[in-house]
Amino acid sequence: MNEQQIFTAVAAENSAVPTLLCGHCHSTLSRAKIFRTERDTAAPGIDCQTIGYCSADDCGAVNCCDEAMSAFENCDQLLGLAS
Ligand SMILES: [Zn+2]
Repeated sequence: MNEQQIFTAVAAENSAVPTLLCGHCHSTLSRAKIFRTERDTAAPGIDCQTIGYCSADDCGAVNCCDEAMSAFENCDQLLGLAS
């Protein structure tokens, strides 16, 4: 029943494509693990529009990506939403 700790994702610098790093272990957050949240989605209590789940085995942190995302001009590119 622990409250899940939320880390703040970090925007990777010197990267050719927008990349977010886990705020806990600094692993690259896979695009597949980054989600836009909407009201009442799977992240109750997380006041964050974009969350990223760290895929590192010994981490698994939930990252709030809002701040890091704001550093990118094209957030949708990061999320792979552009069609
Ligand atoms: Zn991590």
